[in-house]
Amino acid sequence: LEEGARSCLLRFRHRLEQDIKPSYLMDHMISDGVLTVDEEERISNKPTRKDQAVALLELLLRKDNRGYISFYNALVKETYGDLANLLHDDLPQTLPGAYKSSSDGCTSYVQTVLSEGGVPQRPVVFVSRPEFVNCVREKLYRLQKEPGWVTVFGMAGSGKSVLAAEAVRHHGLIEECFPGGIHWLSIGQLDKPDLMVKIQSLCFRLEQSLDSPSLHRPPNSLDEAKERLRYLTLRRYPRSLLILDDIWDSTVLKAFDIHCRILLTTRNRSLTDSVSGAKYEVEVESGLDEKKGLEILALYTNTKLHGLPEEARSIVKECKGSPLVVSLIGALLKEKPNRWRYYLNQLQQKQFKRIRKSSSYDYDALDQAMDASIEVLPDEHRELYKDLSVLEKDIKVPAKVLSVLWDLEPEHVEDILEEFVNKSLLFVDSNNKPHLYYLHDLQLDFLVEQNRTQLEVSLDQHYRDGPPTSGDEECLYWIRFLTHHMAKANLSQELYSLMFSLDWVSIKAQIMGPAHLINDYVEYGPILDKEVMRSQFQEFLSLNGHQLEQRPFPDVVQLALSQPHTSEVYRQALLQAQDRASTG
Ligand code: ADP
Repeated sequence: LEEGARSCLLRFRHRLEQDIKPSYLMDHMISDGVLTVDEEERISNKPTRKDQAVALLELLLRKDNRGYISFYNALVKETYGDLANLLHDDLPQTLPGAYKSSSDGCTSYVQTVLSEGGVPQRPVVFVSRPEFVNCVREKLYRLQKEPGWVTVFGMAGSGKSVLAAEAVRHHGLIEECFPGGIHWLSIGQLDKPDLMVKIQSLCFRLEQSLDSPSLHRPPNSLDEAKERLRYLTLRRYPRSLLILDDIWDSTVLKAFDIHCRILLTTRNRSLTDSVSGAKYEVEVESGLDEKKGLEILALYTNTKLHGLPEEARSIVKECKGSPLVVSLIGALLKEKPNRWRYYLNQLQQKQFKRIRKSSSYDYDALDQAMDASIEVLPDEHRELYKDLSVLEKDIKVPAKVLSVLWDLEPEHVEDILEEFVNKSLLFVDSNNKPHLYYLHDLQLDFLVEQNRTQLEVSLDQHYRDGPPTSGDEECLYWIRFLTHHMAKANLSQELYSLMFSLDWVSIKAQIMGPAHLINDYVEYGPILDKEVMRSQFQEFLSLNGHQLEQRPFPDVVQLALSQPHTSEVYRQALLQAQDRASTG
């Protein structure tokens, strides 16, 4: 630690010890990577707030300049304005030699600009994602000549914040586009008063860094705060970039609609619809590829890639490479290296509450991170979203299928689905016409876990007049999954009529082939508890499997007539044959 900074800490030590709440400050310092979780724990174990504060200052004095800067930023973020003021004059200007330069344009200049602006450091364990970082940088370059918005969006835990911070860690970009500095603001879900406090503390930070800090009283209203910020970004910090992390609400964005340069991260793609100016967007993929996922686990557990146990691959696969999940589990394994199998099981059994980490990420556990997105939906849509738990893994469905499930008009359904997609709660495959929708595995698992209660499906009304028969996308889905949905919805009477109907057998065999049908009997037969009838249908299918694969498709009634006369299959065929004969 630089002499000036040390002396400043020592001079104001008692003031600081009296006022600060270490637990709040330490969270920020952990995300900045200047405090370890162990250090935090040791401090938190002290009995009183005062003891904790004493211990924190003691520790800070043993840290380097980054510790001081991070502590200062934490004070600002937690709105200890006057305490931050005391430390401001002695903020170290340069960082130690080790950070002077590195190959990827991350020089000491970059380090200084970013730490002054409160941009978080790289996570301790970090893998590069050049395809996305370059994409964000490319969009940021478009803000060189004019103000505008770059939206980085994607689902919970896909790595948006890490990516945003990484994108600006670049000498050329800062020098050419944002010489006025980079200023980070964590937003999250907040109400108006909180938002005002955030903007206030940003204004405070900006004013403090000027040579002649103004003596403005703090703004009294959101509008006043907005005006203050407008003045500062326009006049005192031209060509600076504001990074707004984790935005949920477009009213928040409106407060920043002041003709400046903004990079924002969000799960909600359409937020910038309501603000003015040039807009660009980058979609972050929800998962890392297998190699990167394994790399994270290897780094956390201090193992070589090829030395990882076999569970490692299954963990990455199970969560589809979600950076959040892989890192949460990595961090847990770092502490408990023998628990590969245990954590894999937890993940497979959807024990999301058990997968939690002790620090820095905003959500304590995976379930909270997921739940947050669902909780902000309007009530009626939240219920509909939960219904999506009936979907099968890796199966994509057209809007029409959901209009049956929800019993709503297709157009209405499309609007709702669009909302889900925009909020990163659902994925769409738009290469296909009509568009197909699907859930990320983690979202599906989470929904199923939450929704153990039975779902009342409106299938019954829709298919009272018999199963679907046309060959369009919707019908294909139902022919494949109707039995599955009925079984899930406990519609056993309907399932019974369907599975033991020669008409259904004929339709499904024609479209899906006999193997699918046999599979239905094996899977759902036991629910119906009709062993004899089940074996009759199964036998019919196995005996005639070869014929049923032929095209043109054979006459099923003819085939069925050769069944033993005691068989239900024969009985139905006979009725149909008589019917045919009587109608000519
Ligand atoms: P989001 O903002 O999309 O919710 P974050 O950027 O906060 O997600 O990332 C969530 C967690 O995932 C981080 O706390 C970190 O542990 C991990 N993570 C994200 N990106 C990376 C990366 N490139 N390398 C290593 N870990 C990452």
